[in-house]
Amino acid sequence: MSSRTIGIVRELDELGRVVLPIEMRRLLGIGFGDSIEFFLGNGAIMMRKYRPLSTCLFCNRTGSAVVLFKNQFICVDCLDEAVNTDREKTNAGFGTRKKKRQKSEFMIERLRAEIHKHPEASQKELAEILGISQGRVSQLKKFLA
Ligand SMILES: [Zn+2]
Repeated sequence: MSSRTIGIVRELDELGRVVLPIEMRRLLGIGFGDSIEFFLGNGAIMMRKYRPLSTCLFCNRTGSAVVLFKNQFICVDCLDEAVNTDREKTNAGFGTRKKKRQKSEFMIERLRAEIHKHPEASQKELAEILGISQGRVSQLKKFLA
């Protein structure tokens, strides 16, 4: 309960700085170097840990499973779900081909993101990260040029 203490009073210094109580930082998982986003409302200043843009549009997940797809950050699972939903709407033959094409586009974007993150990674390492074969990596790499 002590982490939820309210009524803490802190004095502002000459530069407008105030120390955030450690209990609140702990509660919100805010640490040294984290970015804080401010909000104004009802005469109060609110703040929260800043969420970087590479957060899944649908489920707010972050990390290497989130990729840029058609100018939106989407995680692997949500994109897979979106593609499958899309497929159900189309007839079987055309749908399968469309899904295959979308999967390739998606994999190319993931590969591009991973190469950007790990420029020194070998084809083997990239294959392991993406969960595909080395052959597929070299095949997809041709689309990156
Ligand atoms: Zn997601």
